[in-house]
Amino acid sequence: MGVSFDTKVVHNSLKNTNVIHSKTTPIYQTTAFTFSSLEELEGFYQGESPYLYSRTGNPNTDELGQAVAALEGAPTGVATSSGLSAILAGILSVAKAGDHVVAAEDLYGGTYHLLKEELKQFGIETTFISFENSDQIKNSIQKNTTLLYTETVTNPFLRVEDIGKLVEIAREESIITMVDNTFASPYLKQPFLEGVDLVVHSATKYLGGHSDVTAGVLVGHANLVERAREKVVNLGANLSPFEAWLTCRGIKTLALRMERQASNAKELAQALMANVSVKRVYYPKYVSEKGNGAIVTIELSDKCNISQFFASLGWVKIVPTLAGVETTVSYPLGTSHRALPQELQEKIGINKQVVRISLGIESANDIIKQFEDAIQSSLK
Ligand SMILES: *Cc1c(COP(=O)(O)O)cnc(C)c1O
Repeated sequence: MGVSFDTKVVHNSLKNTNVIHSKTTPIYQTTAFTFSSLEELEGFYQGESPYLYSRTGNPNTDELGQAVAALEGAPTGVATSSGLSAILAGILSVAKAGDHVVAAEDLYGGTYHLLKEELKQFGIETTFISFENSDQIKNSIQKNTTLLYTETVTNPFLRVEDIGKLVEIAREESIITMVDNTFASPYLKQPFLEGVDLVVHSATKYLGGHSDVTAGVLVGHANLVERAREKVVNLGANLSPFEAWLTCRGIKTLALRMERQASNAKELAQALMANVSVKRVYYPKYVSEKGNGAIVTIELSDKCNISQFFASLGWVKIVPTLAGVETTVSYPLGTSHRALPQELQEKIGINKQVVRISLGIESANDIIKQFEDAIQSSLK
């Protein structure tokens, strides 16, 4: 290139990238895409080339949206900056000011807050009720209800939603259903195939799987996902290419991780059920024939000193998240559920002895020993 050094340092991109056959998808860490003529630029607007500007579309974020759609059996998907922004985009694709949402009362805390406080300020009202009773759901539906919202497996007590029942109610009333499938992951549950319209994931959890990415994905019917994609673009809730790339890498081991994590969870749940110092073990029975998930929630007996228990867990760390390859514990009363009104905490069973355990891929025997020892120490 017959130009000065100062120009050369700028124009040093790899040429002919279309003849380099990389085994993995390269990271398109770029804010925008180049065009060699006005005709080519016009081609973007005519739908001939897919990419213009990374906030509106990027190969890595598209790869993630498509990957999760394929795992859920849905036609399309969109990746976003976090699970919560995927939830926001999904809700806004279905509800506007003046509309009403019926939601399960035991939702993830961030989703509860989003609906109860933030979306309320924009004129979207939500009724939170127990989803265990069909009549109660039906009775909460109003003329302006556009959305039924719940989770396949709830946090932290792992209630398994009856998706078939919900889809039936929603179809009778011509209402859209949206389900957060984060805790089950598509390895265990595929709610779109059961008739749910929109399925959302905090990819921060099992899809990413290594506690190093914050991301979200929304999949479902094309018309709804396209409306949600517009919200993502217009609200600036897009995911960065590198985060999308990391999440796609994580997804490749989802089946292996979930298989081991779910079998570790089953073994730990069985061991703790036999421990007299554990008052209750919450571990679901019928999530899927492949397993029942990788979270176990326990309520320790009143004889256990809860601070002593947490301080005695050795290599099991206290972390306010879940789904990594390391076994971790969280304290719902102190973190995820601290903002809930006290009556609701009591109603759903959150108290000071409740501990949520996220199983990792370590050896089951080591995990069980670590918990048995910590329980023993907490009795002293
Ligand atoms: C973590 C989580 C979210 C929120 O996801 P972020 O990636 O933290 O925004 C939503 N739903 C469930 C069930 C979660 O566990």
